[in-house]
Amino acid sequence: MNVDDTTRRRPLDPWEPRVFLVGAGPGNPGLLTLRAAEVLARADLVLYDQLVSARLLDFAPPSARRVCVSDLHEHHAERVPLVNQVLVDAATRGECVVRLKGGDPFVFGRGGEEAELLHEAGVPFEVVPGVTAAVGAAAFAGIPLTHRRHASAVAFVTGHEREDKTDSQLDWDALARFPGTLVFYMGFSRLSRIAGSLIERGKAADTPAALVYWATTGRQRTVEATLAELPGAVAAAGLKSPSLVIVGPVVGLRPALDWFAASPLFGRRVLVTRPRHQAGDMVRRLEELGAEVFALPTVEVRDPADWGPVDRVVADLARYQWLVFTSVNGVHFFLRRLRQQGRDLRALGGVRLAVISNLT
Ligand code: SAH
Repeated sequence: MNVDDTTRRRPLDPWEPRVFLVGAGPGNPGLLTLRAAEVLARADLVLYDQLVSARLLDFAPPSARRVCVSDLHEHHAERVPLVNQVLVDAATRGECVVRLKGGDPFVFGRGGEEAELLHEAGVPFEVVPGVTAAVGAAAFAGIPLTHRRHASAVAFVTGHEREDKTDSQLDWDALARFPGTLVFYMGFSRLSRIAGSLIERGKAADTPAALVYWATTGRQRTVEATLAELPGAVAAAGLKSPSLVIVGPVVGLRPALDWFAASPLFGRRVLVTRPRHQAGDMVRRLEELGAEVFALPTVEVRDPADWGPVDRVVADLARYQWLVFTSVNGVHFFLRRLRQQGRDLRALGGVRLAVISNLT
């Protein structure tokens, strides 16, 4: 998406929020909201979580500072006050700050705590919702979270409670009885405990369950098993975090609905060697086909060491019938050279043009 250049550096009005708590979605850059792209385009500072796709940072102006919160401090607990301080300080200096958080800011992301702090500091803020991981994973793994025949409710549950909680605040009896789909965030390291507790409290051991790893991205993998067998199946598949656990009969609908895994390049890893500024479209296209894409630019396009031969041909263009461009780079560099010489497209008036390309 192109964000209109004129909106890029629009100065903020005094009543406008200085801090935007923005949901970045579950990983696939296409799931960023339009509002998120808009506010990123005005950021002076982007403070982003580690799980956030680095590609989303391209929506911020080149001049914006980009800070990953894990660089503020290696220990999570000590990082939290630092993040809050950076947010408040930057906003107080009058900067436009985007706090970019994985998924949705108000679903297990401490976004609520950050917003409370901003309120206490008197800093106006806006919350931009994002596609939360459960919703992204459900869509991309072919598991409808609700379904008229199978589930009339859905619960988002944390599998990882605060370290300082001595007793679980989760009511496992209620969860085991819950009449709908259960989705556990941050449950990977406690998967056996989650499955065990549910079964102990009466959930059928053969309830369909799935773990979705890196949902919505080319790295996505899904393991499906009964609740009792899921921990073993996940260990055998070697999957890790970030992953979500989905428990309920709706998991059984996957075979017919698993559209993403049926994409032609799903499970393939593709290296794109185009120059960085030109790789974007190809990367995006490959991702749409399901691939996991790595950008590794090995080509750099530069001016020729000597424009002399080209200049001589251009000066003599009237003698030629055809001008054939072999790449988009050829077109860009040739036109730039024409302009540098004070000429324009009229110089090509007498010649027929051809390109070697896919005109899509
Ligand atoms: N605010 C986020 C959740 C933050 S908690 C949201 O709304 O999605 C982080 C947990 O989210 C991870 O431990 C994992 O359980 C889950 N998660 C985030 N992105 C994920 C992804 N792409 N695939 C699977 N799980 C993901």
